[in-house]
Amino acid sequence: MTDTDITRAAIVTGSSRGIGAAVARALAESGMNVALNCSSERSLAETEALARELAAAHGIRALVAVANVASAEEAQQMADTALEAFGRIDVLVNNAGITRDGLAARMSCEDFDAVIDVNLKGSFHCAKAVMRPMMKQRYGRIINMSSVSGVYGNAGQVNYAASKAGVIGMTKTLAKELARKNITVNTIAPGFIDTAMTAALSDEQREAAAARIGMGRLGAPEDIADLARFLASEEAGYITGQTICVDGGLTL
Ligand code: NAP
Repeated sequence: MTDTDITRAAIVTGSSRGIGAAVARALAESGMNVALNCSSERSLAETEALARELAAAHGIRALVAVANVASAEEAQQMADTALEAFGRIDVLVNNAGITRDGLAARMSCEDFDAVIDVNLKGSFHCAKAVMRPMMKQRYGRIINMSSVSGVYGNAGQVNYAASKAGVIGMTKTLAKELARKNITVNTIAPGFIDTAMTAALSDEQREAAAARIGMGRLGAPEDIADLARFLASEEAGYITGQTICVDGGLTL
């Protein structure tokens, strides 16, 4: 069997909507079987609808795993489900993420922990859950979703920025540990992307954000998904440990 005969399989966490849904769509378009994920039954119907759409449109297999990535057990169950269904796991996109913004002086420890638990520990739980099958097959692509907040910091996001900076450190370390097994680990750091996460911004805030972005507009989920598709591909096999900002020039 040559590599081109293999149908690759991916897990995309937090793929009920937004960037995760766009990434799942891009990977399905490139012919991969995809395990979609949401944290609870609340988003199940929309995630199942996306799975049906992707399977019908691209002739791939798609399943939905409800799992809160903050739980190591649920992350492991999600990986087991995907492995059993697809026989392999080639790609993990650690995309699930939350915000609980507020100035540090007033932030509760609960809000700090909640964001670390999902964004940082959740990414670790999922990476750990897929590592063994990836090592066994001597092939893997792990893509972690950080943020420009994690690279540069952002007032009002001490929890989020810390979690996303942690993701970058985790990426570099896992890249060093897993390179010999032919597993690459990279980070995408999006800027302002037009999703539910940024929907809370007022029109004035959106205009102010767009004015700071070289391209003059917020990004679309597809702007992130296009890079994820490349990093998940065979062609990206010599890129590892990197953090790539996709922000339309925001941080230049
Ligand atoms: P979004 O629209 O709010 O979607 C977040 C996704 O994560 C949803 O599918 C949600 O699922 C899932 N999720 C949340 N908590 C989870 C948990 N504990 N376990 C499993 N899934 C969970 O966010 P987005 O804007 O697409 O953001 C996606 C990623 O990009 C996040 O990591 C975010 O930090 C990062 N990012 C976004 C921006 C931006 O401007 N939008 C910028 C930089 C980085 P449910 O439906 O179950 O809640």
